[in-house]
Amino acid sequence: MDARLEAIRDTVLARNPGEAEFHQAITEVFESLGPVHDRHPEFLEAAILERLCEPERQIIFRVPWTDDAGRVQINRGFRVEFNSALGPYKGGLRFHPSVYLGIVKFLGFEQIFKNALTGMPIGGGKGGSDFDPRGRSDAEVMRFCQSFMTELYRHIGEYTDVPAGDIGVGGREIGYLFGQYKRITNRYESGVLTGKGISWGGSLVRPEATGFGTVIFTQEMLKTRGASFEGQRVVVSGSGNVAINAIAKAQALGAAVVACSDSSGYVVDEAGIDIALLRDVKEVERGRLKDYAERRGGASYVEGGSVWDVNATVALPCATQNELDGDAAARLVRNGLLALGEGANMPSTRDAVAVFQEAGVLFGPGKAANAGGVATSALEMQQNASRDSWSFEHTEERLTDIMVGIHHRCASTADEYGDPGNYVLGANIGGFVKVADAMLAQGLI
Ligand code: NDP
Repeated sequence: MDARLEAIRDTVLARNPGEAEFHQAITEVFESLGPVHDRHPEFLEAAILERLCEPERQIIFRVPWTDDAGRVQINRGFRVEFNSALGPYKGGLRFHPSVYLGIVKFLGFEQIFKNALTGMPIGGGKGGSDFDPRGRSDAEVMRFCQSFMTELYRHIGEYTDVPAGDIGVGGREIGYLFGQYKRITNRYESGVLTGKGISWGGSLVRPEATGFGTVIFTQEMLKTRGASFEGQRVVVSGSGNVAINAIAKAQALGAAVVACSDSSGYVVDEAGIDIALLRDVKEVERGRLKDYAERRGGASYVEGGSVWDVNATVALPCATQNELDGDAAARLVRNGLLALGEGANMPSTRDAVAVFQEAGVLFGPGKAANAGGVATSALEMQQNASRDSWSFEHTEERLTDIMVGIHHRCASTADEYGDPGNYVLGANIGGFVKVADAMLAQGLI
């Protein structure tokens, strides 16, 4: 790492102790930014990096609610409004027991660059809670969401901060959150949340967008080697929103998707994942992958273990951060991996990224490859602002154009900075320069 940046990085890490994921995200971005500061000393003079690493606002709050047995439960809520240089804070809410400030900050920091890469006018933010929706009844989830919004509402708004879904937050949760926001404010402010239901202000393609976008980005990478998804053997991690839609899109492009996972284990289905059955089990019944394997002849279920043991030519990690380490990366490379597109945020450890880059694997980092979700959220905001709703075809076309554009921006930035094919460098520099220019223009704030 550039010595000037290393000194700034060390100060940032010392100011934010115990936030391992935030440290990792900062280090990964800083490693790419040396050459930019050679060309733009004004960024150093204006302390752009120091400012970027300090969120504009961090909100932490108590979320009290009552479970079905009448017991009082207390969770912790977060919203980190990281950077508004390009537009209102934008980024999802995650409900998962692992959520703490360090995770929200890593996600919010990544979101700044991701949102910049989309070319849409959106800043970066993220939030969530350590609430675990798994095993909770609909009524419990509703009471939790209502309590969460009873504090959050005062911090958000269509011109201020626009949350969406992430792990553990899908259409059901966005519905309860929106209902409570409307009730408290007495405003039908559609643009305050994205990922809404299609009949009440949502956008077609938003549910599919992150997974579809990841596959479109990966397809663009494959094209640079004269390949495509046609005939590829694909392994996907996760079986939530991003994973399911990545599987569907990869299959539509002619790939065989032979494995996917959840936090309990993974399923191998050599005939190709049955997407209708997977949707039934995971989206309708909120069941487990084990149930999929029991109902699908020929599929096998492996309790625990790593889905990255299954050989593949294309890998799409779509579960969570740091789910793919250096050893798993080495196994994938040995087994003939050609390309990897990150549907999740920071699923590959820094060791894993190094293994992929050294082996010449096409590696699409999450902040570029999974930006289709937030980009389509921005399209949802556009439709809300103009009181319009677009067709599936039109919206998907916009998403495709955006993903092809992000790929082009990353590839051409990597070329410009003398490291062709390095999408990590291209994404980090491409996103950073746009935000840094806007921050310079807006003065010391
Ligand atoms: P979902 O909650 O719909 O699905 C998450 C999936 O990942 C589930 O299969 C879950 O398994 C698995 N998972 C979650 N945590 C862990 C863990 N600690 N270990 C192993 N598996 C785990 O979330 P999404 O699909 O929305 O999000 C997946 C990833 O994509 C996240 O990194 C998110 O930040 C990222 N992302 C999401 C976007 C979106 O639009 N939703 C946009 C951009 C990025 P189980 O069912 O067992 O919990």
